[in-house]
Amino acid sequence: MELIFEKSRPGRTAGSIPTCDVPEVHLEQVIDKSLLRQDVDLPEVAEVDLIRHYTTLSRRNFGVDVGFYPLGSCTMKYNPKINEDLAKLPGFTALHPYVPVEFSQGSLELMYELRKYLSEIFGMADFTLQPAAGAHGELTGIMMIKKYFEAGGNHRHQILIPDAAHGTNPASGALCGFQTITVRSNAEGGVDIDHLQELMTGDVAGLMLTNPNTLGLFERSIEKIAGIVHDQGGLLYCDGANANAFMGKTRPGDLGFDVIQLNLHKTFSTPHGCGGPGSGPVGVSQKLMDYLPIPQIVKNQGDYEWCEDYPNSIGRVRSFYGNFNVMVKAYTYIRSLGPDGLKKTSEVAVLNANYIKEKLKLHYDLAYDRTCMHECVFSGKRQVRESGVHTSDIAKRLLDYGYHPPTIYFPMIVPEAIMIEPTETESLETMDSFCDVMIAIAREARENPEQVKSAPLTTPVRRLDEVRAAREPDVCWKG
Ligand SMILES: *Cc1c(COP(=O)(O)O)cnc(C)c1O
Repeated sequence: MELIFEKSRPGRTAGSIPTCDVPEVHLEQVIDKSLLRQDVDLPEVAEVDLIRHYTTLSRRNFGVDVGFYPLGSCTMKYNPKINEDLAKLPGFTALHPYVPVEFSQGSLELMYELRKYLSEIFGMADFTLQPAAGAHGELTGIMMIKKYFEAGGNHRHQILIPDAAHGTNPASGALCGFQTITVRSNAEGGVDIDHLQELMTGDVAGLMLTNPNTLGLFERSIEKIAGIVHDQGGLLYCDGANANAFMGKTRPGDLGFDVIQLNLHKTFSTPHGCGGPGSGPVGVSQKLMDYLPIPQIVKNQGDYEWCEDYPNSIGRVRSFYGNFNVMVKAYTYIRSLGPDGLKKTSEVAVLNANYIKEKLKLHYDLAYDRTCMHECVFSGKRQVRESGVHTSDIAKRLLDYGYHPPTIYFPMIVPEAIMIEPTETESLETMDSFCDVMIAIAREARENPEQVKSAPLTTPVRRLDEVRAAREPDVCWKG
């Protein structure tokens, strides 16, 4: 397909500006000439060509509005459009962040209420909405843990992280200057309690636990784990990025967690991908209240205002107050579903994942054969052994059938991992069709492995040289 630059013809434009009826002022007269360039090469096209170009491109794209997107650990779910409608209200989108509080009471109220809702849903004392993503929330949480120990004059330099954790967990610990130590998983995919007991000393600030973990399994020994960590004076951190597995069913605060980060852009209805926008609110137990980022919204005789008066705060972690529009969508999502709706969301997310697990388990090896939460993890080991077809080939073949591939090769402790998260929004028919295709690919792998290995056969771009694409990216058009 031609690039927009190749469609360019000198002088062609997509708009017409009326002739000037005021005295002309040339840019050179008002700004420094050295800043002006005549050689910026912008495409010149007519409106109709512009529209056709981008509409055609958008049709080559695959997204949740077009088809099934079973991306485990990422919760790429379909998001109700009412959330977008409300986030689009001019009162929200046109609000300048420097507007005086008298004129932004409604938006402040929304953020204040959202904090209260999240605190209630997850059983935490309070939340900050500032962090801009899940990993940023982790960093914020770990910064608070660090400050908590420093304030008590008790310097601890280690953080424990299970081997099934998301890669952002060790990164967040290391960024805060902690030594990160890996805790092994046991045979059923949970934390190895003996190993935890051995590692949990007075040097350890805390344990970062993903629950459900990245194998899609609920940590069965959570209360025991909390006891071991707390007995040594440590804090328990919950990576709650995938809260659509448990919201409304159980509250991390009640289970003994001291900190939790959420991913509003996963659980609470903002489409994500390509890096944003996101929001990673962090909830804390009473112990960490003093360390929350500033400013915080307080309610003073019915009015909302910003308060900076928290001497132990870790400070600011984001310009302004976070990604406000994502908060509007989360607020709308919570209000439109209500407590029963949120609970049902988790129930259906878990039911759907277990449905797929049962339908596919004869055709692909399950990593752990037990009831899963919002995602199920298979291993493509059998296909490699029987026909030399790898998980990456299976993922590419799915493209030919019109499905976005699931997460593959993650979590890393499962060889040839295939991690499927159908999410709560998908119908029985969609999941049945997807499973039929997965079963058909398993058969093809046995009967015609070469076809699977050469997939995709029908996409605009065939198989890319991924190593070269990563090492020598060529993303710039030069005419
Ligand atoms: C997605 C995810 C993260 C990271 O979230 P970002 O918003 O991408 O920074 C962290 N932990 C888990 C378990 C996740 O699924």
